[in-house]
Amino acid sequence: MTHHVVVVGGGISGLAAAWHLANRYGEQITITVLEAAPQFGGKLASRSICGIPVDVGAEAMLATRPEAVSLACSVGLEADIVHPATTASRLFIRGRLVPMPGGLMMGAPTDLHALATAGVLGPRALLRIPLDFVLPRTPIEGDVSVGEYIEKRLGRGVVDLLVDPLLGGVYSGRADQLSLEATVPMLFRRAKEHRSLLAAARQAMGTGGRAVGAPRSPIFAGLTGGVTRLASTTVDRLLELGVTMRTGATVRELVRTASGWRLTLGSAAAPELLNASAVILATPASPTSRLLASTAPGASIELDAIEYANVAVVNLAYRASDVGALVGSGFLAPPIEGGTVKAATYLGTKWAWIGSAADKQGLVLLRASVGRYRDAEVLAHTDEDIADLVHADLARALPLSARPVETFVTRWGGALPQYAVGHVGRVDRIKSAVAQVPGLAVCGAAFDGVGIAACVSSAQAAVDQLAGHLNLPGTSINSENGTHG
Ligand SMILES: Cc1cc2nc3c(=O)[nH]c(=O)nc-3n(C[C@H](O)[C@H](O)[C@H](O)COP(=O)(O)OP(=O)(O)OC[C@H]3O[C@@H](n4cnc5c(N)ncnc54)[C@H](O)[C@@H]3O)c2cc1C
Repeated sequence: MTHHVVVVGGGISGLAAAWHLANRYGEQITITVLEAAPQFGGKLASRSICGIPVDVGAEAMLATRPEAVSLACSVGLEADIVHPATTASRLFIRGRLVPMPGGLMMGAPTDLHALATAGVLGPRALLRIPLDFVLPRTPIEGDVSVGEYIEKRLGRGVVDLLVDPLLGGVYSGRADQLSLEATVPMLFRRAKEHRSLLAAARQAMGTGGRAVGAPRSPIFAGLTGGVTRLASTTVDRLLELGVTMRTGATVRELVRTASGWRLTLGSAAAPELLNASAVILATPASPTSRLLASTAPGASIELDAIEYANVAVVNLAYRASDVGALVGSGFLAPPIEGGTVKAATYLGTKWAWIGSAADKQGLVLLRASVGRYRDAEVLAHTDEDIADLVHADLARALPLSARPVETFVTRWGGALPQYAVGHVGRVDRIKSAVAQVPGLAVCGAAFDGVGIAACVSSAQAAVDQLAGHLNLPGTSINSENGTHG
C-alpha cells in the first residue's frame, strides 16, 4: 500500500519537508501539504511598493550554514542567489547613528579596541568590561538568560546598548528573557569552560582561525526578486512533482486510527476528513500544541508554553531627492532609546536588485520593524499611525526632508517564538515525546532556530524521523534538479 504523508503548515518548514519527502520518497508515497492561509510561504511573503516587489517578512537567508542556500539551489534558484552589497549596520544611540563595533557575538564583544573606538558605550560602561578578567566565575546551572549572564560579566551597558538591539533584531525579544543556551549556543558552551566571558566569546568566534584581512565568505544571501521566491518556487516544483498543495485548509483536529491518522479540516459545520499514514506538523507552537492535545499531551503542554512576539514590518518609499546620504545597510535601535523603530533597512543599498529598480523611479525604499516581545503597544495603532510614528523615528536618525510617497504596514501576529530560559530542554522533551508516536514528526521555527536555514534543517530532521517510522528505503536522487536518479 502506498503511504500518504500529510504536511500541515505551508511555511518554509512545511514546504522544505514536502520537498525532501518528494525528492527522497516521491515514488513510494503520496504527499499532501495543507496550509490554512490563502497562500503558501508563512513568514515568507512579498508585496509591491510603488510597483517594486519587496519581502515583507524574512528577507535574507543565513549563508554560513548550508540548508537554505542548498534548498534554493535544488529548486532551481541558484542563478538568482545574491548577497547584500553591504551588511554594515549601525546603532542608534543617544540620538545619533554610530558604527556597529566589529567583533560582536550577538552583542558580546571580542575586540575591546573596536568597541572603545566605536563610540557606543560611555567611559563608565567601557571601564566596567575588563573586570570580567578578574571576577570569580559566574556559575551557569542549567541555562541562564543572555542578559543576566552578560550583565554579571560585563555590566548593564553592554546588555542595553549591544546585546538587546542585536537579539531584538533576530528574535524581537529581550536579553533578560532569552536563553543563552538556545540563542547563542556557541557562547553558552564556551562560557561553561572559561571564567572570562571575553575569553569565551573570543574562542567561540574562532578568533585567530582566519588571517587578518582574509576575505570572508558572505554571511547572508538573498534572491533577486526577494527571498519569498524560495517559497513560491518550492511550491511550483512540488506541484510539478505531483504533490497535492492545498491552501485555505486549516487542520482542526488530529487523531490516531488503527492504520495511521485522521485529520479534520474545514468548519465544524462542514468538516472534511482526511486519512494519512504519517503526519508532519510544521505549524507554530500554538496550533501544534492544539493538534497534539490527545496524542502527545505532554508535548502539547510544553508547546503551549512557548510564547511569541508580535511585530510589524513597515515599508516606506521616499523620493530620492528627499533623502540624504545613507551609510551602511541600516540600523538597530536599543529599546532603552525609547523609539518605535527597532530596526531599519535601506533596501536599495542592501540589495542591488531593489536599488536599481528604485533608482529608475527616483525612489529610496526603506523598511522598518516595530514591536517586541511584551512590548507591542505600538501595534494597537492604526496602520496609518504606525507609518507616521515610524517616519518620525526615521527622520530623527536619517537625513529625510519630506514624508514618504507610499507606505504600508504588514502585521505579523505570532511572528517569532521566544526561546526562553530552558528552551533547549523543553524542545528535547517535546521531541522525545513526539518520537514515541509512530508516524508523527514536528518541525519549524519553534524548535531549533528561527532563521530560514534552521527551519529547513528541522524539516530535514522531521523527514528522516518519519522515514524511519514508515520504514522507507532510500532512493537515489539528483539533489541539483530534484529528479529521481
Ligand atoms: C518580520 C520577520 C522577518 C524575518 N526575517 C528573517 C530573515 O531575514 N531571515 C531569516 O532567516 N528568518 C527571518 N525571519 C524568521 C523566519 O522567517 C521564520 O522563523 C520562518 O519563516 C518560519 O517558518 P515556519 O514554516 O516554521 O513557520 P511559518 O512561516 O509560521 O509557517 C507556518 C504555517 O502554518 C500555517 N498554519 C498554522 N496553523 C495551521 C493549521 N491548523 N492548519 C494548516 N496550516 C496552519 C500558517 O498559516 C503558516 O503558513 C523573520 C520573521 C519575521 C516574522
